[in-house]
Amino acid sequence: MTEMKENLLDWLRDAHAMEEQAEQMLRAQAKRIEHYPAVRQRIEQHLEETLGQQRLLKSSIERLGGSPSTAKDLMGRMMAFGQAAGGMTNSDEIVKGAISSYVFENLEIATYTALIAAAKAVGDIETQRVCEQILPQEQAMAQWVLEHLPQLTEEFLSRDAAPNVEAKR
Ligand code: MG
Ligand code: FE
Repeated sequence: MTEMKENLLDWLRDAHAMEEQAEQMLRAQAKRIEHYPAVRQRIEQHLEETLGQQRLLKSSIERLGGSPSTAKDLMGRMMAFGQAAGGMTNSDEIVKGAISSYVFENLEIATYTALIAAAKAVGDIETQRVCEQILPQEQAMAQWVLEHLPQLTEEFLSRDAAPNVEAKR
């Protein structure tokens, strides 16, 4: 395998580990959210997309002769840190979670942008096509989170200010 293809394969494996981490985060968030149904619904939709992304990446990795790595490599560890920093179980976890999601989606956007350039450089049309299919899903999720963040924050604040109303999730 050429040097360039090896880099592409490594990055695809990192992306696969990143999507496994995404799956864990999305599942955990969807399970905990109780009072913000629109957020939970969007998370569940993106969870489905994420599972599809994993399948697409796996097929690209295998076509290049590799096998998917799990979340224990560098990218996975980085994401685990992000998740811990995201503040699950904090009294404001719905807001902190949305902020973390936005950060994570932007990491994904940058990852697929680099992967598309790498696939082009290698001349791997199929991998390029796969990454070009995934990228808009990450962009749409990032956009959705950012657009809903003001309203979500206001909703959290008024729930938090009301007596006997749970706000955090
Ligand atoms: Mg993703
Ligand atoms: Fe995503």
